[in-house]
Amino acid sequence: MTRQLPDASAPHVIIVGAGFAGLSAARALGRKKARITVIDRNLYSTFQPLLYQVATGGLNPGDVSYAVGGFTGPRHAKYIKGELASVDSEGRQVKLADGRALGFDYLILAGGVSATYFGVKGAAENTVGLYTRADAVFLRDHVMSVFEQMSADASNREFSITIVGGGATGVELAGTLGELRDAALTATFPDVDPSRMFIRLVEMMPALLMPFEPKLRDYAQRQLARRGVDIHVGTEIREVRPASVVLGDGREVPSDLTVWAAGVAAAPAVADWGLPQGKHGRLVVQPDMRVQGQDRIFAVGDVALQPDQPSPQLAQPALQEGEHAGAQVLRLMAGQETTPFSYHDKGMMATIGRRSAVVQFPRGMRITGTPAWFAWLGLHLFYLLGNRNRITTLINLSYRYIAWGHGGGVIVGDAPASPHQ
Ligand SMILES: Cc1cc2nc3c(=O)[nH]c(=O)nc-3n(C[C@H](O)[C@H](O)[C@H](O)COP(=O)(O)OP(=O)(O)OC[C@H]3O[C@@H](n4cnc5c(N)ncnc54)[C@H](O)[C@@H]3O)c2cc1C
Repeated sequence: MTRQLPDASAPHVIIVGAGFAGLSAARALGRKKARITVIDRNLYSTFQPLLYQVATGGLNPGDVSYAVGGFTGPRHAKYIKGELASVDSEGRQVKLADGRALGFDYLILAGGVSATYFGVKGAAENTVGLYTRADAVFLRDHVMSVFEQMSADASNREFSITIVGGGATGVELAGTLGELRDAALTATFPDVDPSRMFIRLVEMMPALLMPFEPKLRDYAQRQLARRGVDIHVGTEIREVRPASVVLGDGREVPSDLTVWAAGVAAAPAVADWGLPQGKHGRLVVQPDMRVQGQDRIFAVGDVALQPDQPSPQLAQPALQEGEHAGAQVLRLMAGQETTPFSYHDKGMMATIGRRSAVVQFPRGMRITGTPAWFAWLGLHLFYLLGNRNRITTLINLSYRYIAWGHGGGVIVGDAPASPHQ
């Protein structure tokens, strides 16, 4: 099929980042009025909310990633694989790390965020994250290879995992690891005594899932405890060592694997873009989502910060901000004034494990348990990109939750050498 893009005189919109926000902006721009170029460092867009399923052997990495070229082409936009290195706002040009320069009429920055360690000693060196597909595959392969070593080792070796951060990611990972230990571990590695694996979840705030209301937080905590997770709320991590963590009260507890799910910030490289940054390095935007002081440069999604009305760093705000920025570019192209962004809160959800989730709608309605879990599943399938991913995810998750405890359901890989290889 030939590419049917607008003619060469149409304004050129560059979108950096093919996540929720960037692709939503591309969608809003349509394919008739502007020439669109989407740049991402990866060939694929990652569906981060299901990474913990890849990390626990329930989904394949391909289930949660979708080729950017498949979204943008053949008639929508051009896709370039590349890393944004610098922005020349005066000259309306971006430079990629490989030296390529591209001119733009409008630029939408949607590069997301990465882990921040709040200066905790040893955290950067001794923890693994769960932000990328590679992180999830590393976690899965590491956990499985330790199970295999425990299976071969008659010395009753123990395996302690510490998850730092009791937000949705930490809760989802801890709950699913608990189920992995209690069901899949015994089926796949029958020689391993599950009581030799310990899962600890550490949260600095006084409760898990702080953005949720207390009743839902308590439910999540009870459900995690039922899955054998050792929960420490109101507990700080002072230091992370290669095989232990030091808690705020000075106690050192064993931790063979420490997962950092405690906070995010703009990547350090964002500082090279010469644009105003606010808390955690996020790009400061005006109410219409244009970067402060800029007429043609927008920032959306996790990387953007509107100081007066900061949006939560979640998929919905990213989708809505991306859509808004695309619509504002069209308005500017038509000689119209921009309009301010306002976030439409559709609620929040988090899952703890099989048939266990919490859903909080904006106007008071709350659901827990099996109905919440099915709502969570349906919504995640809906927002996944691509029918193939929806089908494989539905099959893999159904298989996981039906076959666990009956000898199947765990996807395995090779033993990795290092988290960052
Ligand atoms: C493990 C995990 C679980 C989550 N679970 C949930 C959930 O259940 N519900 C929810 O609402 N939210 C969840 N979130 C948050 C949600 O995923 C984010 O808020 C959302 O992805 C933000 O979208 P974005 O488009 O701003 O950034 P991203 O989705 O992170 O996309 C950014 C894109 O930019 C690319 N990029 C970055 N820098 C550059 C560069 N310099 N050059 C080129 N490309 C670049 C990246 O490769 C990436 O494709 C979760 C996040 C994580 C990490």
